[in-house]
Amino acid sequence: MSNISTRVSRSSISWILFLSLAISISSVAFIKLLLKKQPISLVECASAPQIRVLLSRNCQKYKVSVNNGCTLSAINEKKYSGKHTFFVTLSGKTILLDGKDVGQTITIIPTAGTVFSLGNFSYQGKITFLINNEKLYAINTLDTESYLAGVVAAEMPAHWEMQALMSQAIAARTYSLFIKEKFGKNRSWDIKSTQANQVYRGISAQHLRSSLAVKNTQGLILSDPKSKQANGLFPAYYCAVCGGHTENSKYVFGDDYVCLQGVKCPYCKETANRKFLNWPKYSISKKRAFEKLVRKYPTLSKLKSLSAIVPIRVSKYDNLTRITRFEILGTNGKKDIVGGEDLRLTLDPTGQKIKSAATDVVVSKNKITFKNGKGFGHGVGLCQYGALAMARKNFKYTDILNYYYPGSKIKRIY
Ligand SMILES: [Zn+2]
Repeated sequence: MSNISTRVSRSSISWILFLSLAISISSVAFIKLLLKKQPISLVECASAPQIRVLLSRNCQKYKVSVNNGCTLSAINEKKYSGKHTFFVTLSGKTILLDGKDVGQTITIIPTAGTVFSLGNFSYQGKITFLINNEKLYAINTLDTESYLAGVVAAEMPAHWEMQALMSQAIAARTYSLFIKEKFGKNRSWDIKSTQANQVYRGISAQHLRSSLAVKNTQGLILSDPKSKQANGLFPAYYCAVCGGHTENSKYVFGDDYVCLQGVKCPYCKETANRKFLNWPKYSISKKRAFEKLVRKYPTLSKLKSLSAIVPIRVSKYDNLTRITRFEILGTNGKKDIVGGEDLRLTLDPTGQKIKSAATDVVVSKNKITFKNGKGFGHGVGLCQYGALAMARKNFKYTDILNYYYPGSKIKRIY
């Protein structure tokens, strides 16, 4: 009896284990499916303006894949069904699609509700290739809300507090619509997909929580009383860690807005990693620094070689000093001026070593040393780690935005 009973109970246990495993595997698969599918429909918004995002202009050849059919704008609206991979190549003054000449431009429009992939990422909307200044541009067009889902997920960790994510979504929406309105009219694209504007990684980067932050703030923007753009749009800059005080945009980017004045930030020190709050010193030889400067600003070759760099405009706050303009002195006595952000990003394009312009600069015989550096990024507008700290103290997104963009008003524009 006991043997049978043991066998029965062992067999039952095996079945239970097998069933639980099967259920948990299928649940995981189901959740994964949900997470994978949901962001596509979560934020799509037909009333949101379309935005054209420059994905790349540095390749001669692109590989584009669709999973479930598409239409081509050229070649008499030719339709494809099922999976298909296209190779788009620049050939002199024309574009070749799978080796066939299609002229100056072509748009691949995936079937509604499906995505396309380019390089390592997948994207919603459609993709246009066109020739501009002898380069082949790849431009993704989609509604602004879907675009923002791919920005917020790339610009702020998705596990951060919802109120911080919502602040980020509104800042990013304001910034992108401003850039589109101000610059998009005179070119074939609106915004770059890199740090030059905002990082965008399409649907590949999307996360349920960042998409929810976009959905929760759909159509909301910030408005500046001094802006001449429609709806008071302004470039609502943001940075990772201000280091203790945000900076007036006028001194960094040269644009003057009421909402982009610097404010004291007692918050980021509560959440940011030590390596961002006080970053390690960094040295570069004068020779190497001058090579980099001349490559970026060829007119600096008139200085012959580098003698010194001298801060000539500095913002001094209680707890932070940020250099916003440098004089570059040549060994032949000539000189020129470079902005603080321009200098640090020329000497260190990654921005990972000279993390901010809130730093001391020591010039010795052969090298330049940046030390006592504080913060990470340009310091203008929303301080992301500060927003995280405020959200943890139960401030709402309205408080956070009002703090970092003083004088701004939140408006719904669609
Ligand atoms: Zn801060």
